[in-house]
Amino acid sequence: MANHDEVYQHYIDGEWTDGTGEETFESENPATGKSLGEFRRGTPDDVDTALAAATEAEEEWQALSHIDRAEYLWDIYHELKERHQELGEVVTKECGKEISEGKADVTEAWHMVEWAAGDARHPKGDVVPSEIPAKDAYMRRKPRGVVGCVTPWNFPVAIPFWHMAVSLVEGNTVVWKPAEQTPWCGQIIAEMFEEAGIPDGVFNMVQGFGDTGEAIVDDDRVDTVLFTGSAEVGQEIASKVGGQPGKLAACEMGGKNNIVVTEEADLDIAVHSAVMSSFKTTGQRCVSSERLVVHEDVYDEFKERFVEVAKDVSVGDPLEEETFMGPLIEEGHKEKVTEYNELAKREDVNVLVDRTELDDDEIPEGHEDGHWVGPFVYEADAQENLRCTHEEVFGPHVALLKYSGDIETAVDIHNDTDYGLAGAIISEDYRQINYFRDNAEIGLAYGNLPCIGAEVHLPFGGVKKSGNGYPSAREVIEAVTERTAWTLNN
Ligand code: GLU
Repeated sequence: MANHDEVYQHYIDGEWTDGTGEETFESENPATGKSLGEFRRGTPDDVDTALAAATEAEEEWQALSHIDRAEYLWDIYHELKERHQELGEVVTKECGKEISEGKADVTEAWHMVEWAAGDARHPKGDVVPSEIPAKDAYMRRKPRGVVGCVTPWNFPVAIPFWHMAVSLVEGNTVVWKPAEQTPWCGQIIAEMFEEAGIPDGVFNMVQGFGDTGEAIVDDDRVDTVLFTGSAEVGQEIASKVGGQPGKLAACEMGGKNNIVVTEEADLDIAVHSAVMSSFKTTGQRCVSSERLVVHEDVYDEFKERFVEVAKDVSVGDPLEEETFMGPLIEEGHKEKVTEYNELAKREDVNVLVDRTELDDDEIPEGHEDGHWVGPFVYEADAQENLRCTHEEVFGPHVALLKYSGDIETAVDIHNDTDYGLAGAIISEDYRQINYFRDNAEIGLAYGNLPCIGAEVHLPFGGVKKSGNGYPSAREVIEAVTERTAWTLNN
């Protein structure tokens, strides 16, 4: 890999194939702008072939026990662990996350595989009391059939396994399109399934862009669509698929996440949580915090300490251990983040840190063509309905919103966005914490912690514009199985 000796292919029905398309595309290292390899670009015809294979493979795959199906995943689990460093570097090179995060992506992937494969030995369904003593009643689960997965670039190893590990163990077959920014990670995962010897057609990977994803979403042979990505695309998928009987889409979308710092906060915890949540992965997580809601009594001290870190935080070569923030994923995304920073200025906020353009000496040698941006931090009025404080930027773009009064006021500000994914409260007062837990409109609530770093054995999902009611990670089971009732008269 990482050379141009070959053009990398799709993996369909147990074979590597060029597919039907003429076009190829490059994977780019966002820190250097250099190519990492060339890949076949999939077409709707390739999706058609993959779906035919996945449909054909269903019967034999479903005839295996959960435990036998899980065996293939245990092989992948060991492989992910053994190749931790190497794969972490691939993630870092391909999506620009700094190396500890590149490795954490791989760790999260094996956590998910471990959970799904281990779950194969757990009870599946419920024994339910019947109104009639002679009757046995059960809730059973059946696989839905073919699962179409469309995954994002920001967790290019972990999220594909959120989608696929449980789906496969439960007896579904899979057609997967990796993000076009991270096809190398897609290639490696497909190689792992091949080496594990998964039966032909059970796992299929088609590289490509939006038209390839759309072909998966639109096809009638797909029983469940699993999507993680932008709210715009997710909403489109949810409404399209929602109208088709028998088909289901589980969409995991963005956030405009808040950290609430009350007058009872430990400010060491508050600053640490805000820095981690706002700047890790260069703000490119759906759970990143772009709004810090801070009580007036601790506002000045919090602001001073947060701003100090934002001014200093290291942006640079993501392969270096001491780097805190890597580049943005691509030039187009840098333009978007820059435009939001400009918009904030036009909306007349008070800018505290503006590192939109880094100084030349901050950019490491050989990395001049990377997509660099540093933190942008500002104060804004929580009562004003500004676009910059309400729209998801997906970058290190952070608003400080001062509040006075009680926790109810803070939570009202917290809830004043269209999104509802993740959020945190920093406080030593259990009443404030409980109020936040019960009233914050989010799927992932944290107390005295950053609002990033979800664990896969918890449901991962949001409310409002952040999801459509089907959380991911372990909860994917609800989207990829059918619950049926079985009643027997003895
Ligand atoms: N696993 C990530 C976290 O909780 C979030 C996934 C995402 O941003 O898409 O930090």
